[in-house]
Amino acid sequence: MTSQPLTNWARNIVFEPASVARPRSRVELAEVLASASSVRVLGTGHSFSPVCSTDGTLLSLADLPVSIDVDVEAQRAVVGGPLRWGDIAPVLDGHGVALHNMGSLPHISVAGSASTGTHGSGSALGCLARAVRGVELMTADGSVRWIREGDDGFYGSVVALGMLGAVLSVELAAEPAYDVEQTVWQGLPFVVAVDRFDDVMGSARSVSLFTTWQSDEFEQVWVKRDTASPPADLWWTGATPSDVPLHPCPGISPEACTQQLGVVGRWYERVPHFRLDHTPSSGDELQSEYLLDRSCAAEALEAVQTVAHVVAPVLQISEIRTVAADSLWLSPCYGRDSVAVHFTWIDDADAVAPAVAAVESVLVPLGARPHWGKVLDVEPGLVASAYPRLADQRTLRNRLDPEHRFTNGFVARYLDA
Ligand SMILES: Cc1cc2nc3c(=O)[nH]c(=O)nc-3n(C[C@H](O)[C@H](O)[C@H](O)COP(=O)(O)OP(=O)(O)OC[C@H]3O[C@@H](n4cnc5c(N)ncnc54)[C@H](O)[C@@H]3O)c2cc1C
Repeated sequence: MTSQPLTNWARNIVFEPASVARPRSRVELAEVLASASSVRVLGTGHSFSPVCSTDGTLLSLADLPVSIDVDVEAQRAVVGGPLRWGDIAPVLDGHGVALHNMGSLPHISVAGSASTGTHGSGSALGCLARAVRGVELMTADGSVRWIREGDDGFYGSVVALGMLGAVLSVELAAEPAYDVEQTVWQGLPFVVAVDRFDDVMGSARSVSLFTTWQSDEFEQVWVKRDTASPPADLWWTGATPSDVPLHPCPGISPEACTQQLGVVGRWYERVPHFRLDHTPSSGDELQSEYLLDRSCAAEALEAVQTVAHVVAPVLQISEIRTVAADSLWLSPCYGRDSVAVHFTWIDDADAVAPAVAAVESVLVPLGARPHWGKVLDVEPGLVASAYPRLADQRTLRNRLDPEHRFTNGFVARYLDA
């Protein structure tokens, strides 16, 4: 009998580790690390890049005891790194506090998504890692330490691609809980989005534009409004609110999507696009994404339009989001308010490769930084030139993991380029 291959969520990466470990305590975790010459931690496996791959020990922390401790007065929470955002959000809400933002799906782990710079949308909202105020790390020698904001190396310890050690817990900044209503608008003219990008994207707490690149409009605009702020008005753009719920991918039932039509709900039930108890997105896909300085938004959108004939045939949907700048050395939003240009491709790596190359050929010259957790083919030297703190990250890695036991081929390719 053959056993199922071990893969990521999208099944485009087959893991071939020498061994797999699921420690049930910190003592067992330290024992695994003591005997492993190379190791990678797997979160929920939602990355499309080989960021988790290893020929050594693949480590899941899913069986470690974890907790969620909320300090309402300090507006802080300490949560287990392996937990999913969807697991912690209702607990935070129960204490009257909230996260500043969430990704499109709540299914991903806190540590795994923070490690790759995962983000949602919101012109004033940073990536998910921006809420992190401290990281509890077990390093390769089995020792445990907290690295907190203000400590040497903190800004390299959050979006760290798993290269420093196993993240056991994370301290998060929270804010008072809020309600959100979500309305999907249809038919935003491309020219209006380009000319008035900041106005459209700043019209609510979180705004996402969706397009197939097959028409002269963004077919959908997802608007998530904090109910404490005034109603979002996009009528001036020529778009109109949908009176039926929609899935971002054409032709797919909206059943998996969070509630729309302006129905008010708790923040964690509206901010992600997809429900925790459903398969997110199309479920059968590859993804790529590139983050650029927001001042390049119009240029970037027009650039992608020039390769739309290569992109559209292998595309399910494209999403345009905004993310606020941060100070995290490996964050794709390091030092710049960003526009994120995302592609949900069909599930066929060979067919998609020319489209990825075409997109990269027009966006990388504009300074695009690829999403670490999605399909990318950017030459390492070009990625390195987009990250001014790469040398600091290398120094930090060398200090915390001098034998590079947590460095896999993917990390070495980009960090040590
Ligand atoms: C359907 C779908 C929708 C998506 N939507 C978005 C989106 O809206 N925005 C966005 O930015 N991205 C999105 N992504 C990408 C995804 O959020 C990232 O790839 C994210 O990193 C996945 O989190 P994970 O827990 O699965 O991490 P994994 O893919 O398992 O791991 C990612 C990295 O984190 C490290 N890691 C994981 N856990 C630990 C730990 N405890 N300690 C140390 N290192 C650890 C791994 O070694 C690896 O380097 C989406 C992906 C899918 C499949």
